[in-house]
Amino acid sequence: MDVKALIRDVPDFPKPGILFKDITPVLAHPEAFSAVIDGLTGLARVHGADCVVGIESRGFILGAPVARALGAPFIPARKPGKLPAATRRVEYALEYGTDALELHADAIRPGARVVIVDDLLATGGTAEAACRLVTACGGQVAAVLAFIELAFLGGATRLAPHAVHCLVRF
Ligand code: AMP
Repeated sequence: MDVKALIRDVPDFPKPGILFKDITPVLAHPEAFSAVIDGLTGLARVHGADCVVGIESRGFILGAPVARALGAPFIPARKPGKLPAATRRVEYALEYGTDALELHADAIRPGARVVIVDDLLATGGTAEAACRLVTACGGQVAAVLAFIELAFLGGATRLAPHAVHCLVRF
C-alpha cells in the first residue's frame, strides 16, 4: 500500500510559497486510511499510551481512531474558545503573530502517558506547544506521532528529547 503516493501537493495554499500536503485523498481511500491508523496505533502501543491527545483539526481525524483502536481515552487539543469547561492554554509563535491551544484542565489523569497525534510535523511549533500543554495538565509526553514529517524543517530536533515518529517523510 503506497500511502505516500496518495498525498496530494497543493502549491500556494493557504498562502503563496506554501506547498500544502493534502491528506484528503488518503482519508477517501479506506485501505490507505486503515494503514495510517494501524501504523500510528502500533507506535502508540510501543510507547505505552494511556491516552491520545489529537491536535485540532486534522489531528482529530487521525487521533480519534487511534484512541478507539487502543481502547484509550481521546482528548482534543483545541483552538482557543472552543472547549466548554475550564481549560489550560499555551500560546505559541507563528510566522506572523501567535496562536494557542487549549485542553480541558481535568482531561489528563496525573502522570498519564500521553501520545500526541497530528497529521503533519513541519517546524514542530504546534507539537511543542501541545507537549507543554500536556505537561502543564499533569501528563507525561510518551511520544509525538504524525502521519507526515517535513524533515527539512527540523521539527523532530526541536521536540527533543521527546520521542517523535512519523509514517512518511518528505
Ligand atoms: P508546525 O507547527 O510548523 O510543525 O506546523 C504543523 C501544523 O501546521 C500541523 O497541524 C499541520 O496540519 C499544519 N501544516 C504545516 N505545514 C503544512 C503543510 N505544508 N501542509 C499541510 N499542513 C501543514
